[in-house]
Amino acid sequence: MLAFEVKLGTRGYLSLRNTDNGVRDLDYDIIVAGGGPAGMTAAIYSGRAGWKTVLFDPMGGGGQAGTTDMVYNYPGFPDGVSGPELMELMANQARAFGVKIEYEEVQKVVHSDADAGFKVDVGHEVHGARAVIYASGTLPRKLGVPGEEKYLAKGISFCATCDGALFRDKVVAVVGGGDSALTEAVFLTKFAKEVLLIHRRDEFRAGLATVKRVETNPKIKMLLSSVVESVRGEEVLTGVSVRDLKTGETRDLDVQGLFLYVGWSPNVEPVRHLVETDEYGYVITNEDMSTKTPGLFVAGDVRRKPLRQITTAVGDGATAAWSAEKYLLERG
Ligand code: NAP
Repeated sequence: MLAFEVKLGTRGYLSLRNTDNGVRDLDYDIIVAGGGPAGMTAAIYSGRAGWKTVLFDPMGGGGQAGTTDMVYNYPGFPDGVSGPELMELMANQARAFGVKIEYEEVQKVVHSDADAGFKVDVGHEVHGARAVIYASGTLPRKLGVPGEEKYLAKGISFCATCDGALFRDKVVAVVGGGDSALTEAVFLTKFAKEVLLIHRRDEFRAGLATVKRVETNPKIKMLLSSVVESVRGEEVLTGVSVRDLKTGETRDLDVQGLFLYVGWSPNVEPVRHLVETDEYGYVITNEDMSTKTPGLFVAGDVRRKPLRQITTAVGDGATAAWSAEKYLLERG
């Protein structure tokens, strides 16, 4: 026998929930996966519009921006703003609009054609949603050199903001030539006695202002046209082997910390089966952040876009929430 429960939605709509044939609860109107600037903005808009919203993030929010020491190009902060502080402000704003923020990692999003809803698996339990905004960003890339796996979290780190203080008065190396590597190299000079910046080319990808800050910092020594060939250590990391690409010469350098900022890969696995991706694995969305799966919207760094910044992530998040609202209202 079928049994139904009538539910009054947060926007005043009534929904019928089948309680007797294994169909899951529709726990939320909107589930946001990812707590970086895109996810937080989407949650702020969704919560403010009155939708029952939860945001899942394994770190409780922050994303890449939350591990960035200082952000100098976010409007409204002419002297820069600390990344963790900015993200905490966004999280507090989301909570103030009734959004639940939970320390969960979304493992898989499943779409059910039967009732056009979603199941969101966070590992130990499955939640229901009428719409999903996926903003899980990117994952840090590794070098793929001998010794790297062994010394992950034993000297090798992807987060200077989190681990920098462990290297007070030590020598550390930073690998990469983009905004992340250069910004974090400067940050690390607060603690380390010397920061070696190892970059595979002679030119930096980072913005000019950031390059200037690196060039004028006496604690930073640049090793350009150079690559890390291997890392070594005992219990913890003690050094790296670096090859000069111009001379072919290899040198062993003593470093206690190695910070990798060699780019990011899209964190697309939980929704891969529901979206289209480009040749690099980034999700292809429409201008309104919609995907080929109705009700699934993708925002932020995980989507294909020309500029990955906090400002553009915030715009994506707002657009995704607006589109999710439109989708929910159209479905009644
Ligand atoms: P990125 O711009 O992709 O830079 C990655 C760097 O790693 C590049 O310099 C690249 O070298 C190097 N690299 C890649 N693979 C390597 C390998 N196997 N071995 C050695 N080096 C390797 O990444 P990002 O710096 O993390 O920046 C990502 C995005 O976030 C960018 O759009 C950036 O502007 C933005 N961001 C902005 C800010 C800010 O404006 N405040 C701060 C952080 C990040 P090549 O240059 O030779 O390719």
